[in-house]
Amino acid sequence: MRYVYDHDLHIHSQISLCSKDPEQTPERILQYAKENGLRKICLTDHFWDEAVPDTIEWYKIQNYEWIAKSLPLPRAEGIQFLFGAECEMDKDTRIGLTPRYYDKLDFIIVPTTHLNNIGFSLTEQQAQSAEGRAQAWLKKLEGLLYSGLPYHKVGAAHLACSLISKKREEYLAVLDMLPEDRLRTLFRRAAEIGIGIELNSSDMSFKENEAQTVLRIFEIAKMCGCRFYLGSDAHCPKGLDKAKEIFERAIDYLELKESDKLEFCKL
Ligand SMILES: [Zn+2]
Ligand SMILES: [Zn+2]
Repeated sequence: MRYVYDHDLHIHSQISLCSKDPEQTPERILQYAKENGLRKICLTDHFWDEAVPDTIEWYKIQNYEWIAKSLPLPRAEGIQFLFGAECEMDKDTRIGLTPRYYDKLDFIIVPTTHLNNIGFSLTEQQAQSAEGRAQAWLKKLEGLLYSGLPYHKVGAAHLACSLISKKREEYLAVLDMLPEDRLRTLFRRAAEIGIGIELNSSDMSFKENEAQTVLRIFEIAKMCGCRFYLGSDAHCPKGLDKAKEIFERAIDYLELKESDKLEFCKL
């Protein structure tokens, strides 16, 4: 059976400092779920647990108290509206989350590819070249896969994020540079621990001639037995509205079946 688009586990509300769109409310997000027949959605605003020191100002504000302003989430029959967070990993693979919040967050997504944030999520030296960025990509994903987080409810967010490099040419070069044997080792580990691999609608908005480069990592992940979840990463209603078409295209490209779906999506 073909993979069904029935969930979205990566959605921001206006609370995220990079959204600030007054229309991007939990109610509007729930409406999106209704319109698309989704059964499970998750709010994942940017978050840093202040118990982990030495973060940047932007994250200091976005602590638990901040993201919890969205609670309680609105309800609708047949839809599970979960409360999660998009945590952050710094250049030393430290994640801004401690066990005190594991139970408070229904789903935890960890981006390893916010490589735009030089000095914090990427070293100055790594930022100098495509090779350096590729090394950071590999090191940070490995860090996540050995982080000890409660893997059954964790997702590796946007592995092909455009923030890997603002220059599209360099972005594609970084993805092409990731060695297949390393990817296989990492994705076998990901499959073993049961962490979710995100199909992010921004990553999946590639041009036809970029498909091979962008999809290669996900094809290897699939081959290694990884399971996937969908995440629109919408920061505004427009992002919600265009998600369906992008997801359906990605599902076709990767020929995903229901058996490739992350177990967490099905609960
Ligand atoms: Zn992100
Ligand atoms: Zn996000």
